[in-house]
Amino acid sequence: MRPSVLDPLFASVTTLDGIGSKLAALLANVVPVDTTGRDVRIGDLIFVLPHGMIDRRKRYEIATAPEGVIVTIEVRIDRHQAPSRGGGSMPYRVFAHDETGELALTFFHAKGAWLQNVLPEGERMIVSGRMEWFNGRPSMVHPDHMVLADRAGELPLVEPVYPLTAGLSTKVLRRSILAAVDQVPPLPEWMDPELMRRRSFPALNEALARLHNPADPVEIDPNSAAWRRLAYDELLAGQLALALVRRRIRKASGRPLVGDGRYEALIRAALPYSLTESQSIALSEIKADLALPERMLRLLQGDVGSGKTVVALLAMARAAEAGGQSALMAPTEILARQHLATIAPLAERAGLRAAILTGRDKGAERQRTLDDIAAGRIDFVIGTHALFQESVAFHDLALAIVDEQHRFGVHQRLSMSAKGDTPDMLVMTATPIPRTLVLTAFGDMDVSRLPEKPAGRQPIQTATLPIERLSDLVERLRKAVAEGQKVYWICPLVEESEEVKLMSADERFTALQPAFAGKIGLIHGRMNGRDKDEAMRAFKAGETRLLVGTTVIEVGVDVPDATIIVIEHAERFGLAQLHQLRGRVGRGSKPSSCVLLYKEPLGEVAKQRLSVMRETEDGFRIAEEDLKLRGEGELLGTRQSGTPGFRVARLEHHSDLLEIARDDARLILERDPELRSERGEALRLLLYLYGRDDAVRLLRAG
Ligand code: ADP
Ligand code: MG
Repeated sequence: MRPSVLDPLFASVTTLDGIGSKLAALLANVVPVDTTGRDVRIGDLIFVLPHGMIDRRKRYEIATAPEGVIVTIEVRIDRHQAPSRGGGSMPYRVFAHDETGELALTFFHAKGAWLQNVLPEGERMIVSGRMEWFNGRPSMVHPDHMVLADRAGELPLVEPVYPLTAGLSTKVLRRSILAAVDQVPPLPEWMDPELMRRRSFPALNEALARLHNPADPVEIDPNSAAWRRLAYDELLAGQLALALVRRRIRKASGRPLVGDGRYEALIRAALPYSLTESQSIALSEIKADLALPERMLRLLQGDVGSGKTVVALLAMARAAEAGGQSALMAPTEILARQHLATIAPLAERAGLRAAILTGRDKGAERQRTLDDIAAGRIDFVIGTHALFQESVAFHDLALAIVDEQHRFGVHQRLSMSAKGDTPDMLVMTATPIPRTLVLTAFGDMDVSRLPEKPAGRQPIQTATLPIERLSDLVERLRKAVAEGQKVYWICPLVEESEEVKLMSADERFTALQPAFAGKIGLIHGRMNGRDKDEAMRAFKAGETRLLVGTTVIEVGVDVPDATIIVIEHAERFGLAQLHQLRGRVGRGSKPSSCVLLYKEPLGEVAKQRLSVMRETEDGFRIAEEDLKLRGEGELLGTRQSGTPGFRVARLEHHSDLLEIARDDARLILERDPELRSERGEALRLLLYLYGRDDAVRLLRAG
């Protein structure tokens, strides 16, 4: 049970004054956690940290105030000039002056009476807002602040700027956050006092106060003591949770899985290719782990198209030789079905049975599969995350493989271990993750890499093309399709709130229909599962040859004879995602190409991204460039800022704290393995605060 002292932080934001369900829905867009399926909590809101600030400290004079900049000026109010009746969209103007000149405070759709009250004629006032020059005259449209000069203290001198979302104003967001911060109860300190002293870390409440009510811009820098304190908390919570899982995994002594190679040999004989050198090495590393009495905890890292699936299959074959079942968990339904399609026929050649279990399988058929799994009649169970969330009883689960592609979630691994199954674990990822990220996402894991691609792959030609040349492209694609080639056409997801005119996948499908009648398919996330399968199947079988889709096909989809991919509005995608998408082609022996369609004007970063894509296919190089362009947090193409799975920690600023947190976590658990001491109890609060309560559950169980 969660300690009740934390209740205020787990209360819905709607319990705060002035926050209703409508505002709460907007707040869900800015909090740094996924709140799908639950209310936004007060404890989510306190971690919305400012990404910049407005500095109103410096005073300017009208004549020399820089244009386009937010300035603070002391003026005397001279006269009000209401728009004449029938003046249409004419603004209401209030003229004011200082020694250097005149300033027009300009208001659209304003109420005169209100303005008379706020800006009384003859008063000295301080106004703060963006300076503009209109027809050669200085003006300020809708000043942010207007206070009497006598009450200058009411002007916020340093105002934090928060990430915004449509419909939510800075003022309302700030007010909500401050109300949330007010609710943070005094909590016992969990941080090592010596570390706190050495690093000048403030207490939690103090850190939050400084970040949300800064007296100086340096306080809201990620390198400030306040931010670093929060980051350390979060990293410590993460390392503690991972250490608990790992300890639990290691403690539940594994068993040696030793095989004689008979299934492996049969499957390898059925493969139309032989393993690459790096696949063979990875496989032997895995087999060596499996043979140990300790449990395996290994990461298999390989760029898109490097051939991870077959390594997974042969690892599962090994487990089967030792008499155990294996589970393979895919990030999407499409991918789970694709894995089944690859694996089932090969398994059959070795006399082994594979089955799929996802949220979609229902009724009697599902029950039969469940029975077969429980009775041990199925050797390889393939599924989505649902597989581990539900009560699937295995006869004897020996090996669990998680195909993460480039999505991360410590969460699933935790829940899997919490279930009490103690299989060997292999996590597959296509992201060339730097060491620090491996540490945060997985703790101390062993790593196997697939640096080389299978032989015979041809380089992918990448070209960029402005959208204006669309008709040329369509003409070329028609020829390619007539020659029997297969084409993906990717459209970005269009958010309903977006005003920019973008074509959705639906609309693009309709627009391309005449040119590719009968040979064109559509796939996107809002279609139901069976329709998605059917779209994939038809494309694989060659019944359709142009597949228009959203990024649902980004992850892992394998159609080796697809040779062209068009990415529309490529400027809107991150580098990692472009690389993933491009990896859908170039998987067979035929030359492939990638066309990045863009819309002018291109921003500087977008321009650079596209040129990196043209220059290289090397996933590591692309990850590095991405890091340079966007910071480590965005490397994985997740949130706009920050590191995936983290609320406040930014690895590009805080990676030095990571190692300390890891050592700290280790030491804590050595001294107080069940977190029973006074500090241990406080650390439990920390785990709850950062959503690592799965780990607390492990404690109790362990
Ligand atoms: P990823 O690592 O992206 O998951 P896959 O496992 O989907 O890659 O493999 C990509 C493609 O490469 C598949 O079509 C697979 O059959 C093929 N492949 C895998 N290993 C080899 C190999 N050693 N030689 C040739 N092709 C291979
Ligand atoms: Mg894959």
